Amino acid sequence: MERINIAGAGIIGLACAWRLVQRGAAITIFDAREAAREASWAGAGMLAPGGEFSEPSELARLAMASLSLYPDFVSELQEESGLPIDFRRSGAVEVAFTEAEAEALERRAESQDGFGISSESCTYNGHPARCYPEDAVVDPRQVTRALLAACRGRGVDVREHEPVIDVRQDGTAITMRGEYGADSALVAGGAWSSEICDGLPEVIPVRGHLVSWNLEPGVLGSILRRGSTYMLQRGSGALVAGTTKERVGFVRSLDENAVADIVQRASELLPVLGGKAPDARWNGFRPFIEGDLPLVAPVANTRIWTAFGHYRNGILLAPETATRIAAMLG
Ligand SMILES: Cc1cc2nc3c(=O)[nH]c(=O)nc-3n(C[C@H](O)[C@H](O)[C@H](O)COP(=O)(O)OP(=O)(O)OC[C@H]3O[C@@H](n4cnc5c(N)ncnc54)[C@H](O)[C@@H]3O)c2cc1C
Repeated sequence: MERINIAGAGIIGLACAWRLVQRGAAITIFDAREAAREASWAGAGMLAPGGEFSEPSELARLAMASLSLYPDFVSELQEESGLPIDFRRSGAVEVAFTEAEAEALERRAESQDGFGISSESCTYNGHPARCYPEDAVVDPRQVTRALLAACRGRGVDVREHEPVIDVRQDGTAITMRGEYGADSALVAGGAWSSEICDGLPEVIPVRGHLVSWNLEPGVLGSILRRGSTYMLQRGSGALVAGTTKERVGFVRSLDENAVADIVQRASELLPVLGGKAPDARWNGFRPFIEGDLPLVAPVANTRIWTAFGHYRNGILLAPETATRIAAMLG
């Protein structure tokens, strides 16, 4: 039986662990902190290629492929874990407040039509808008909770609060306080991946803030977006809005100016919010690497594989990444 060590128990490491253990591998997964408390806890959960891609690209293709895997991924995971996952084909509405924004939306829609992202013209509160019927939402915290349960149920050894210090270059051992032998290693440490293993491309943490209000369910049916402002509502009623893109390293403190800015932008888009103070605010570190694509690949001449660099779309890309890793390693 193939023994695989995985460094990092975010959505990517856990989804890979689940698919690999289903194929009969023996998995130990290590996390420096509690599992799934970093970017995968912070993420909004938009599964929304319509708002992400203006031009055709390999990343756009992977994102659409992953979105098409989501319904089956979620039902299989719910069944195996016995836990609920709030996943909905909510659609998205992107609003234009100015003529220039409206023209840009139309141009983008024409381009998107050419590579498989469909949308239609609509209005929102009297403003011109585009509706993206295929976009969806998921609660990422419920996904990782279910992945953890499913992994544990199949015997994955989940070792929390055990930071990986090094991965032996041939992949056959991973070092923490002691050394854990295996046949191969998968580095899935999100924004920390290049710190975990020598010789990997640098990962830059791009901090993002989000806020949420506890509202009655049903205030917002679809994702609502305008430029860098977006919001969605969970089944519980929590209405989540964001975001920011900040290159400040691994600074965890909340930036109250960023929070105030999101509250203002969100209230312009959804006036019922009325600038009210949010009930929760948080931030997280998106794992950014140069180039367009996450690094989902073997490292040449080693028994090390990588799955990191998912930047703004790791929740969306998790099913597809796990399928690819399982095909390579399983
Ligand atoms: C504000 C915000 C909003 C977002 N919204 C969306 C969205 O709407 N849709 C979407 O698709 N994506 C979204 N993302 C992006 C998405 O959250 C990430 O791409 C995704 O969570 C990355 O998953 P990961 O498992 O690679 O990283 P992480 O979830 O960060 O997991 C990495 C894990 O590695 C662990 N680790 C670190 N160092 C070590 C070590 N030395 N040893 C062992 N373990 C270690 C960490 O503790 C962590 O648990 C958002 C991100 C942010 C921050």
